[in-house]
Amino acid sequence: MNASPVAAPAADLAPTGPTIGVLALQGDVREHVAALAHCGAQPVLVRRESELAEVDALILPGGESTAISKLLEVFELLEPLRARLRDGMPAFGSCAGMILLASEVLDTRPDAQHLSGIDMTVRRNAFGRQVDSFEVDLEFTGLDDGPMRAVFIRAPWVERVGDGVEVLATVPDGPFAGRIVAVRQGNVLATSFHPEVTGDLRVHRMFVDLVRDA
Ligand code: GLN
Repeated sequence: MNASPVAAPAADLAPTGPTIGVLALQGDVREHVAALAHCGAQPVLVRRESELAEVDALILPGGESTAISKLLEVFELLEPLRARLRDGMPAFGSCAGMILLASEVLDTRPDAQHLSGIDMTVRRNAFGRQVDSFEVDLEFTGLDDGPMRAVFIRAPWVERVGDGVEVLATVPDGPFAGRIVAVRQGNVLATSFHPEVTGDLRVHRMFVDLVRDA
């Protein structure tokens, strides 16, 4: 998916918040841009090192992690991004973005790169072929107003978390009950599912608040 220039939000959505980049190499960039704009942040597309340098925080979208990994190398963003994460830049990754933020990835290509933004082992395409996509309502630590509808599309799960990683959500029931699907370490947040596609902005709001406080 190609990202287009970010339209100015309507007057009542005029950004007062932080400048948050959306990594715009591949994946569902527009959905994150829209969600950020609705949360009062200033979304910008990030494809170059100079653009990365300007943002307060970064969202890594859903898409295809191995393709994004390759493009991070092509666009010479891999090391600059690792450096910003090491320096404490807040980040949020959904699905492929979660995979990219992991410190270890299972069932990926041998040449795929990851960013080690969170001390966790993530299994790619973990829910298997029969259930490529599914939806479930889950409790998300730190979010008020009831469970959140979570949409999973060829999603990963988190198989191991290190010390200092907080588990924010697990699958509530069914064959995958207890699987970890949302985590946070410091100012880095990751979800196996796609909060950007449901219109429920609570995770994006949580992230924008976290960036404001950072
Ligand atoms: N299966 C994809 C990957 O490996 C992730 C899917 C998604 O982002 N919806 O990157």
